[in-house]
Amino acid sequence: MTGLQDRALASFLGLAIGDALGAAAEFMTRGEIAAEHGVLRDIVGGGWLRLKAGAVTDDTAMALALGKSLVRRNGLDLTDVCEEFAAWLRSGPLDVGNTCRRGIRRYIQRGLVTGPMNEGDAGNGAAMRFLPVAIASHHNAERARRWAVEQAHTTHNHPLSDAACETLATMVVALLGGNGKGAAAERADELVSRHPTFRFVPYPGISSAYVVDTIQTAFDGYFSTTSFEDCLIRVVNHGGDADTTGAIAGALAGATYGLDAIPKRWLKSLDRDVAAAIRALVPRLLAIPDRS
Ligand SMILES: [Mg+2]
Repeated sequence: MTGLQDRALASFLGLAIGDALGAAAEFMTRGEIAAEHGVLRDIVGGGWLRLKAGAVTDDTAMALALGKSLVRRNGLDLTDVCEEFAAWLRSGPLDVGNTCRRGIRRYIQRGLVTGPMNEGDAGNGAAMRFLPVAIASHHNAERARRWAVEQAHTTHNHPLSDAACETLATMVVALLGGNGKGAAAERADELVSRHPTFRFVPYPGISSAYVVDTIQTAFDGYFSTTSFEDCLIRVVNHGGDADTTGAIAGALAGATYGLDAIPKRWLKSLDRDVAAAIRALVPRLLAIPDRS
């Protein structure tokens, strides 16, 4: 496996592992997590969704759906993405965010693949599934940035969601290219200088589904630690939208530290079908040509 293949696979597995680890702590406070788990450091399942250990939630499911469409269409085809999201919604998933549900229903009922700018669209539901466009555009940061926003608008149309999606996508492109954490930090600093509300040092301590809180929590964990394991443990133990903060931080940490840095106990715990789907998908995402 090349360095690129290793980092891309670690990034997608990292997203799923962060989702599966954090799901046990979703909607909990730090104190509630401490009372139940001490420090949450294993994939134990449970949580409000009563998941089996290793099961993932909407974050990974929507990222896989977007990835499947990218591979099938050899690029970003918003109608096909919406078809994939609609098929997922019809499958009756355990949890669907309200804004995602509204966007997918808009497509099912009216055939619309984007919605107008909406003040209520600043949740993290588009940012949580950004990763496949970054892997598919690993050779082209500008396309990654554009596709990150276009895929976002199928459900979320808000400048702060857009900014988060663009930043995450260009960070992962830089990391997949082997440019390291310093390059990722430059992208994060750009985001903060354009939108100071995203400032994450000192960490404000709120890990809600508001995209600003989500990004601050993921970035705090990622930039204040030096391993995949420490990053995810720090992030999910804040609780709140812990599956999504875990998923985003896991994608960044995976792309940074690679497959060998992911704890074996977490790789073993991850749902086998999900792991297999990711392992099949990532090489095909990497093979999507750079022609647009
Ligand atoms: Mg979730």
